[in-house]
Amino acid sequence: MKVTILGCGGSSGSPQIGGADGAGEWGEIDSAEPRNRRNRPSIVIENKAGQRLLVDTGPDLRLQLTAQKIGRIDAVLYTHAHADHIAGLDEIRILNRILDAPMPAYADQKCWAELEQRFDYAFRPWDPAKGFFRPVLVPHVVAAGETVEILGLPVTLFAQNHGYISTLGLRVQNFAYSTDVVRLDEAALAGLMGLDVWVVDCFTSGGPHPTHANLAQVLLWVARLQPRRTILTHMGPNMDFCSLQRSLPAGVEPGFDGMVIEF
Ligand SMILES: [Zn+2]
Repeated sequence: MKVTILGCGGSSGSPQIGGADGAGEWGEIDSAEPRNRRNRPSIVIENKAGQRLLVDTGPDLRLQLTAQKIGRIDAVLYTHAHADHIAGLDEIRILNRILDAPMPAYADQKCWAELEQRFDYAFRPWDPAKGFFRPVLVPHVVAAGETVEILGLPVTLFAQNHGYISTLGLRVQNFAYSTDVVRLDEAALAGLMGLDVWVVDCFTSGGPHPTHANLAQVLLWVARLQPRRTILTHMGPNMDFCSLQRSLPAGVEPGFDGMVIEF
């Protein structure tokens, strides 16, 4: 199995639109460091046969896939329906053409309801004779607490508190992905024991945030769960790559777009 981080930035990306010269607002991070350039959060999990599960379809999806030379996706899983995780759903149309089939897609009931409302045209009856002039998904309803087989991979889903809503975290063998989380209950923590690699939301090194874990919280989780390797994602404008690399404890590191984790 192989995991590629397609994006590890916050909801507005890094840099976000703006800045003194209009070329981007970098906050407190170094614009000269390429690993500080971050797209919206997403990963791809590739199985032994080379089939790929895409987790979330954010607004940067086209650039993310082409940058990582990923020309085919075999299934999609949604963690939740916030715009930075779903706004690239239209790109599934092109992935449909490559696959030459409707796209198997997995999300919980609430996420599907939201997707159907916001992308209603994608859920109208599909006429195969017309091809893929819009995205065509095969919706699978999943729920936290379940283990679902996707592309032959056992994907265990668990609930994460994201402030105002709940998101799906996922574990595949000894890898887990926890984007968009501020609190984890005992059931989720129990399911995160014994990890080799944990990619986890860490929006800020500052004080508590209403919807995202801060560094202090991540380090508390790490002390308890003891993953062999912890990689930070969903990083905001005070999470400078090199400063973090210098200051984080052993076993904890900032992610970067294009990071590949082999199992
Ligand atoms: Zn979110």
